Amino acid sequence: MSKVALITGGSRGIGKETVLSFAKEGYDVAINYLGSEESAQAVLDECLSYQVKAILVQGNVALEEDVKRMVTTVQEELGRIDVLVNNSGITRDKLMLKMSEQDFMDVIDVNLKGTFLMCKYVSKIMMKQRSGSIINMSSVVGVSGNIGQCNYASSKAGVIGLTKSLARELAPRHIRVNAVAPGFIETDMTHVLSEQVKESVSKTIPLGHMGEACDVAKLAYFLASEDSKYITGQVIHVDGGMVM
Ligand code: NAP
Repeated sequence: MSKVALITGGSRGIGKETVLSFAKEGYDVAINYLGSEESAQAVLDECLSYQVKAILVQGNVALEEDVKRMVTTVQEELGRIDVLVNNSGITRDKLMLKMSEQDFMDVIDVNLKGTFLMCKYVSKIMMKQRSGSIINMSSVVGVSGNIGQCNYASSKAGVIGLTKSLARELAPRHIRVNAVAPGFIETDMTHVLSEQVKESVSKTIPLGHMGEACDVAKLAYFLASEDSKYITGQVIHVDGGMVM
């Protein structure tokens, strides 16, 4: 039986590259998205060209009912879940004094609560299987903080605490839980930054340039594979040396 990976936010950016890296290696994949149906369908079609099973699971990771429905669908249609990549994420950048409670809570709801809910319902299945690997997308700013991102940085720091706690809880059931902390990666999320900001950010990166989505996807694939079987509870940076 093929292994199954469920990737949230698989329609674009890092999530899309992650879905494709699993499909290319023979995993059956479940691709979650929120609103980008057309791009999610294109990712699905590319996966099918690798002769694996692939399904779309539309839903909001911040809503418990959506999460329950999506996880049940994946189990019914693909039979099991070996890997969960919690990649969905949003930003609502503003200086704190201009940030509304809604701006703060929207980001916490998707990035942190969404990760918690997905871990909760998927780990029930992994516990029965007595195996699994969960990869949570944090960020360097969850470690370093960042001006204009107190909501986002709090959510990503929370993801690190969640990851370490779950790694301890789930290790006896042979489920590993790790976090990935990307730096600045070329995706829709960073396309909104001006060229001037991108240039000044690049100067703070020892390797001198922004990363690509595939740099993160390859790490997620490694953390799901048997090659990382003795790694759990870790936060691994993919940031060109930005935060050491
Ligand atoms: P992106 O291009 O903006 O894509 C975000 C993805 O998340 C999309 O697939 C989107 O679905 C999905 N999504 C958003 N809200 C959702 C919700 N409520 N429920 C389900 N899915 C939802 O982002 P990215 O740059 O690839 O980032 C991916 C992850 O890496 C995020 O967690 C981000 O915080 C983290 N990260 C990114 C960077 C970077 O520089 N890019 C750096 C550090 C960390 P739709 O397409 O359907 O809207």
